[in-house]
Amino acid sequence: MTNILFAAGGFRWGQFEAPLRAALAEAGLQADLSLEHAPDETDYIIYAPNKHFIDFAPYGRVKLVQSLWAGVENIVTDATLTQPLARMVDEGLSEGMVEWVTGHVLRHHLGMDRHIVNPGHEWVFDPAPLARTRNVGVLGLGALGAACAQALAALNFNVLGWSRSLKAVDGVACFAGDEGLREIVSRSSILVLLLPLTGATENLLNAERLGWMPKGAVIVNPGRGPLIDDDALLAALESGQIAQATLDVFREEPLPQGHPFWAHPGVTVTPHIASETRPETASRVAAQNIARVERGEPPLYLVDRQTGY
Ligand code: NAP
Repeated sequence: MTNILFAAGGFRWGQFEAPLRAALAEAGLQADLSLEHAPDETDYIIYAPNKHFIDFAPYGRVKLVQSLWAGVENIVTDATLTQPLARMVDEGLSEGMVEWVTGHVLRHHLGMDRHIVNPGHEWVFDPAPLARTRNVGVLGLGALGAACAQALAALNFNVLGWSRSLKAVDGVACFAGDEGLREIVSRSSILVLLLPLTGATENLLNAERLGWMPKGAVIVNPGRGPLIDDDALLAALESGQIAQATLDVFREEPLPQGHPFWAHPGVTVTPHIASETRPETASRVAAQNIARVERGEPPLYLVDRQTGY
């Protein structure tokens, strides 16, 4: 019997227990999935910490910690976690992110706000340009960024993508490195951030780089709040350098009442809902990863402790 500890919060147990049990059975595992297992009897941990981090040191027998989240910046820095750590790569998560990103990019591209919010009932003939004339940059070409870049390319946008190592993504002009970043940022009138939060990406979008963007550009950030220097963004919005920002993630969440982002007319705040881990699909990923380890194969989606993602 394989003992699997579900350490992702009691409230998630209600959502995940049934799909996880079904996925473990489907993967052919004889597993005892529980909210409680003695540390020295635990083989795997399914983890999402919220505010409650566990001390991994006593879990010496654990072969894999499977995160339910794609972003692991709060977990990877945990000194007690020396066991292999896998992040969540889930088709449900990707589909949700594609829908959210394409929706918000299309909103800005088409200028939908002008028609939805039209208090004077003005008849202004202002058709939008075609997507083929619009450069959209996507920073981060991982599981989520590459899926979004391809979906935007399928809508005919000119998509430019940036990653740490140079990628090849169908229909997307790919760049890497500092020069590549400058190229993308300076050419994109809509810029989507899908980078993980690491030491190398914090404040990546600072005052200097916001200044590289075409005047009146739009930022869409479903990545992580600290990728952007908040004060620099507010200053760029004030000056008109940046016309609008749709922000799903923030340095502090929930975004505190009174934060200038709430009231700024150029900022749309969404409450970290761009894409959620979906219990059905994520349970299958977790179960299949555990089954791989049980068969003696290396787990998928391992987090690199050096790079932090
Ligand atoms: P991923 O597969 O790990 O991809 C990360 C991408 O970022 C990779 O292309 C990577 O480059 C690139 N990257 C990392 N550090 C870089 C650097 N210093 N310079 C240039 N490129 C760098 O991650 P993912 O699954 O796509 O998820 C991305 C992020 O989305 C997560 O970390 C999380 O913060 C966020 N997220 C948000 C929500 C939400 O609801 N708002 C939901 C899920 C995830 P390489 O390809 O060269 O490694």
